[in-house]
Amino acid sequence: MLLKSLEIQGFKSFPDKTKLTFGAGITAVVGPNGSGKSNISDAVRWVLGEQSTRTLRGAKMEDVVFAGAATRKAQGFAEVSLTIDNSDRRIDFDKDTVTVTRRYYRSGDSEYMLNKTNVRLKDINELFMDTGLGRDGYSIIGQGKIADIVASRSEDRREIFEEAAGISKYRYRKHEAERRLEKAEENLVRLRDILSELE
Ligand code: ATP
Repeated sequence: MLLKSLEIQGFKSFPDKTKLTFGAGITAVVGPNGSGKSNISDAVRWVLGEQSTRTLRGAKMEDVVFAGAATRKAQGFAEVSLTIDNSDRRIDFDKDTVTVTRRYYRSGDSEYMLNKTNVRLKDINELFMDTGLGRDGYSIIGQGKIADIVASRSEDRREIFEEAAGISKYRYRKHEAERRLEKAEENLVRLRDILSELE
């Protein structure tokens, strides 16, 4: 799956709109310590729905918004768009190009978009499930991740292989179906109570 470009604005150390374009093959990001290299991979995780502030190396979600510098005012919101080449339809979305956008305001409001149409976080999660790129995907290997994998419990390690094998989606759907079934059963019990009261 080819990442075509990443647009960042107001996210961490990127107050101005910054567009990175990626070609085929390997792209290396080089720069001095603290120049914002890891903030780029944080932007990729974040736009794909990452909710863990710890994974994003912050204390609260607001920390992703540019906090200001000596010569720059803080920004009111952060926005990241990731554009992916989908000509091979690896993502179950009938368009050659998929652009995912996430915007977050200091007020706590956030928005997700798919090709400029508002969607829910759930839609983003479902779309990227089993592609390896999603929130719990294995495509982004951060510092310490390999050590985590080696040291993790075998059940946790299995999840990585399940994602790679394309099983996660079915596990998720099974869980959703079970949840709905439970809800329906609860409604049925309530309905029976009401009926018995009426009789
Ligand atoms: P290293 O090579 O040391 O790992 P790096 O190039 O990966 O560094 P990052 O960790 O991506 O650097 O960036 C750190 C910089 O981002 C710090 O200077 C920090 O002040 C800045 N930064 C992080 N969050 C914000 C924010 N919300 N607003 C402004 N600047 C921020």
